[in-house]
Amino acid sequence: MVPSKLHAALLASPGMGHLIPTVELGKRLLTHHGFDVTIFVVTTDSSTTASQIHQQTSNLTALNIILLPPVDLSTKLAPDTSLGEQIGIMMGESIPSLRSSFLSMKSPPSVLIVDLFGTAAFPLAREFDMSTYVFLTTSAWLSAVTTYLPFIDKEMTERHANNREPLFIPGCEPVRFEDTLEPFLSPGEPIYANYVAVAKEIVSADGILMNTWQDLEPAATNAIREFEILGKFTNGPVYPVGPLVRTVEVKPVHEENEVLRWLDKQPVESVIYVSFGSGGTMSEEQMRELALGLELSQQRFVWVVRPPVEGDASGAFFGVASDGNETTLDYLPEGFVKRTRGLGLVVPMWAPQAEILGHPATGGFVTHCGWNSVLESVLNGVPMVSWPLYAEQKMNACMLSEELGVAVRVKVTAEQEGGVVCKEQIANLVRRVMVGEESVAMRVKVKELKLSGEKALSKSGSSHESLSQMTKDCVSRSA
Ligand code: UDP
Repeated sequence: MVPSKLHAALLASPGMGHLIPTVELGKRLLTHHGFDVTIFVVTTDSSTTASQIHQQTSNLTALNIILLPPVDLSTKLAPDTSLGEQIGIMMGESIPSLRSSFLSMKSPPSVLIVDLFGTAAFPLAREFDMSTYVFLTTSAWLSAVTTYLPFIDKEMTERHANNREPLFIPGCEPVRFEDTLEPFLSPGEPIYANYVAVAKEIVSADGILMNTWQDLEPAATNAIREFEILGKFTNGPVYPVGPLVRTVEVKPVHEENEVLRWLDKQPVESVIYVSFGSGGTMSEEQMRELALGLELSQQRFVWVVRPPVEGDASGAFFGVASDGNETTLDYLPEGFVKRTRGLGLVVPMWAPQAEILGHPATGGFVTHCGWNSVLESVLNGVPMVSWPLYAEQKMNACMLSEELGVAVRVKVTAEQEGGVVCKEQIANLVRRVMVGEESVAMRVKVKELKLSGEKALSKSGSSHESLSQMTKDCVSRSA
């Protein structure tokens, strides 16, 4: 029997970087491809999550969103559990609630789409006879590395970790040791084994969606899709469906937010936006150096600050606030806020990033290179200073500066690993992005990419076609 309408359940793992693109995918499936959509959200902080969802979906009442009951991990985690493992455990703990929700639905979903951390729900989906999809909210390059991982040459991964040799992935740029992921530093350890286990689940899915587009990453996209290269390793097709980001209307005047009101008064492309994603944190010494670097650059800035955390670059991942409510800024250099009044704004905790990047006054972005931030910057034609902190951000930084030519990268030399990036370097990089010939060249390139991303999403664009194909495949599977 062919169902009258496909019903997709999307499962978002904790973290704004997973929730935001999942909601955007849900919106697209609903508005462009005729699906009914229910989004299940696993979160540690339901009020922040609810307000983010409201912002993204207030004009779309047809989107059904269910916050699963928060999971208390306090008694279940060893102190050194990695961020990825923590998210994985939370997802596993949420399965019983997901099962109850499915059972209570009048018309249960026929398709389940999870993100990188949600494959623990696949056995449940199969029990309910649903098709299984993974939405990788990251680059085709990392997607290729991940799908290849269960089949990779073990000796190569050991040489990668021990002798700092690159990781060679068929059809893709090799991954340099300096840009590698945390699990690849410890083959043989549980963190590596867990990533391989997740990769095996991913390749077993009926299909894989990636938040990227063909023309942004032609080599990696072809490699992962071509049977002869990496396509033979995935059970189902791979669909590049991006760039799915929250976009906002450009308004002539803003009343609702202090930062946007301030931006309204600044010249076009004159402000650098500085933010390290939803969870990024730095040491106190690094924050002071960054403050002094911004001051030294003499460029206008908007800087989202969080209280310093020593030795944990993702220190705010589970505790980000929806709005600035952390008012003490005494970790910044003495007199900094006063001296830079008029030149810049310091925003505690959280800022409306999509609106800031979409504002005509914003002309540069110092970013930790989370994939959503990268896509948002590109889609707004904003060149970047890339300052990767954790996860796959170093690979993203490498792609931005070396392949695409739309960013300049912060350099942390081997001796300084774990050390502090000095104010002179920061000032220099900010100026390179904001003024001079190099800035003009980067701006031209990033605007070309913006057009290419918009084209991919347009009616006959590659990503639109790809999602249409996925829809057809879902229909034939449920027939
Ligand atoms: N974000 C935001 N305001 C902030 C910080 C982050 O709106 O102050 C949003 C940002 O626009 C992006 C997401 O949170 O959509 C962060 O995702 P990303 O992949 O860039 O980084 P992650 O937080 O996952 O490391």
